[in-house]
Amino acid sequence: MRSARVFIEERALEYPLGKELWDRFSARGPAPTLIGSHNRVGLPSLKGFKAYAEAKRTLVVGVRKTLSFQSCKPSAHYQLPLVTSCPGMCEYCYLMTTLGPRPYVRVYVNLDEILGRALDYVEKRAPEVTVFEGAATSDPLPLETLTGALAKVITAFGRTALARFRFATKDDGVGPLLDLPHEGHTEVRFSLNTRTVIRRHEHRVPDLERRVAAAARTAAAGYPVGFLIAPIILDSDWRADYGDLLEELATALREAGLPGGTPPTTFELITHRFTPKAKQTIRGIFPGTTLPLDETRRRWKMGQFGYGKYLYRAEEMEEVRSFFEERIAALFPEAKILYLV
Ligand code: SF4
Repeated sequence: MRSARVFIEERALEYPLGKELWDRFSARGPAPTLIGSHNRVGLPSLKGFKAYAEAKRTLVVGVRKTLSFQSCKPSAHYQLPLVTSCPGMCEYCYLMTTLGPRPYVRVYVNLDEILGRALDYVEKRAPEVTVFEGAATSDPLPLETLTGALAKVITAFGRTALARFRFATKDDGVGPLLDLPHEGHTEVRFSLNTRTVIRRHEHRVPDLERRVAAAARTAAAGYPVGFLIAPIILDSDWRADYGDLLEELATALREAGLPGGTPPTTFELITHRFTPKAKQTIRGIFPGTTLPLDETRRRWKMGQFGYGKYLYRAEEMEEVRSFFEERIAALFPEAKILYLV
């Protein structure tokens, strides 16, 4: 991540990592500013896209105070908060709505406390296995060279029989993770999309080739890998484009020389959907977006938490389902589709 400005919480300097980051940024820039709380950050007074883009280039180094982890059903038992937000600028990102006015990137220096708390949770749930999700409010991988947080968790969980970790990423900086003693306890899920969707709607994230290559290297290092294809956007060429994506992925995994060709992997498939609030937020930040946000072409569905979303119509969903089930079965015989929504 190339930050335009760095804020460091005073308390963070009491931790070795906070001190190290202070020294690092003081020596190489941008010069860090000391702040009292990582929740109170002074940013340039801007609006819309400019405000969002500047916030995403702002790094805040702080101490994570809340050490009770939120639940993360159904994919994991708990969230594991190592980072908040990410430097990417995807137009459809749900964090735009959930992080509201504070989309800047936050890393935490009290990693031993966070990890210690995670291991307490594991102990309490024994003899059951406890699964933690590391990407519920972030993409943690682009920040790994700053904090080493993922390496710490992966190594500790590798030593803990009942702990499992999973995170999703659009980044390709997997190098520092490849030789860790993960013992198969961490699953890395790569978030992919067609070249068209990436070109139109994803910004400041690695391109498809780099993500696919990173996935192949990660699988070759023995990690369980998964693929998150989201949001699936049904433009006029979607069948050809998603077909190409799956073929390219299968080829890369085969060429990685894994025993048995493609590994037993998982797919999570999420079609594009939006809430009225998300549409308003997206239009406020990306006024020229070409995301398909026309309600008249969608079906409205009320959710269990009291708010509704616009989904693709039932017949389109059926088409998507049979397309992906067929292609994935043909190209990845060992793979499992965890869900398609
Ligand atoms: S990489 Fe993920 S977390 Fe970051 S902006 Fe894109 S969708 Fe959001």
